[in-house]
Amino acid sequence: MGRWAWALAGCLAIAAIVAADAGAAHPTGKRAAAVATRARTINWADGRTAPPAAAEPAFLRELPAKLSVPGAGVGRQVLAAYGAMFVARGVRLPPEVIFPSSQACARWQATVPQLRRRLAGQWVDLQVRPMQALLAAVAQARREGLRIAPRGEGSSRRTYAGTVALWHSRVDPGLRYWVSRRRLTPQRAQTIRAMPIGQQVGVILQLQTRGIFFSLHQHKSILYSVAAPGTSQHLAMLALDVRDTGNPKLRHILEAHGWFQTVLSDTPHFTYLGVSQAELPALGLKPVKSDGRRFWVPNLGPVHLPS
Ligand SMILES: [Zn+2]
Repeated sequence: MGRWAWALAGCLAIAAIVAADAGAAHPTGKRAAAVATRARTINWADGRTAPPAAAEPAFLRELPAKLSVPGAGVGRQVLAAYGAMFVARGVRLPPEVIFPSSQACARWQATVPQLRRRLAGQWVDLQVRPMQALLAAVAQARREGLRIAPRGEGSSRRTYAGTVALWHSRVDPGLRYWVSRRRLTPQRAQTIRAMPIGQQVGVILQLQTRGIFFSLHQHKSILYSVAAPGTSQHLAMLALDVRDTGNPKLRHILEAHGWFQTVLSDTPHFTYLGVSQAELPALGLKPVKSDGRRFWVPNLGPVHLPS
């Protein structure tokens, strides 16, 4: 798929995320007018602006207009892992798949209408609609003798710095491991360590396409383990980590209020999508059974279940 989309060989620079308005900047003449009037236009990292063709997966067509997506396969990995939130309804969405900096993230977070409530002894910060839906779900659960509670501090809104710290907790041991297995030289590992974070994310995700993984035990994608800096759904205030989600009744109540599981292998994690389950396939999401649960993930080809 994606003639123009994912594979930009040699272009590792996640830093090349284009300005959100590339749609107006690049095309000229009639083409510009045609592109500008399309509802869904995606700005790829190399500056190309292309409306997804009818043959592209529905998920790509449902992405927000002017969403900036990094190239070099990075955009695909990130969207496949956490992209479900980008088709959420009734919420504000980040302008880019990966926030490029702490400042960009904080600036955006400050502009988004949000609510803060105390739930089971923890502060929860979410966008307005997700919070209202969550409170309704909490009330329904209570009526049925169940309890929806956040997993702890930092279960809802997070900062960019928090995602960086989590990232390093996987990348640093991973680099040591792959040097010990002689898949990376010490010099190469050192170069990667010293890179600006955005560039490092691109390089790590590229290494993973060659089987050099950075999860906790180096056997699967780091994205199943932690979010890449600047990508967490928690930054968008559309996610909540919930305690004790083993009870399917509790999960069904959350689903009935627009909260779904969308990140494979992250069992406490729920994402606000703002629609009913029946509407999810039309948004380009598909159900995947894993860990005895149903996850709704972007339909971007075969899913490799984390082991
Ligand atoms: Zn989470």
